[in-house]
Amino acid sequence: MTHLVYLSLGTNLGNKEENLRTAMTLIEEQVGTITSQSALYASTPWGFNSENTFLNNAISVETSLTPEELLSTTQRIEHTLGRTHKSVDGQYSDRLIDIDILLYDDVVMHTPSLTLPHPLMHRRLFVLEPLSEIAPTMIHPLLQKEITTLCNELKAEGTC
Ligand code: AMP
Repeated sequence: MTHLVYLSLGTNLGNKEENLRTAMTLIEEQVGTITSQSALYASTPWGFNSENTFLNNAISVETSLTPEELLSTTQRIEHTLGRTHKSVDGQYSDRLIDIDILLYDDVVMHTPSLTLPHPLMHRRLFVLEPLSEIAPTMIHPLLQKEITTLCNELKAEGTC
């Protein structure tokens, strides 16, 4: 049984395009077939100060992994790419690669290690812009709105 998942990738250190390419190669090997990918978007760091701008994209992947297996696999890939520590005490920091699980089919779940859909995806333009490119009419399973609508609403707020 395969599942359709949407991931957000971000990097703000080193050769950013290469980091995203390497992450996608490892995702193809360890998660499943990448069925679509957005363009790369530059964004300023969110939640912390850094001189290093981010490069972000969104991809869809067909996988047979469970949500928990997917999380441990994306975390392993983050470590493989040299990210040695996750955010500590809610502090964000520079990173070679950050992989967020945005959507897993239309699963809604909340455990200590995994929240689906990603709890902040609708508050981040650097997530919604690339995602709306590859899944414009996808419905957010909790908010019951299309990704394009969420993106336009956030842009209209003008706070991001
Ligand atoms: P961060 O360092 O900001 O990437 O946060 C990673 C932490 O968020 C990890 O410890 C995960 O267990 C947790 N987490 C909860 N929900 C998600 C999700 N949908 N995608 C990725 N990480 C998640």
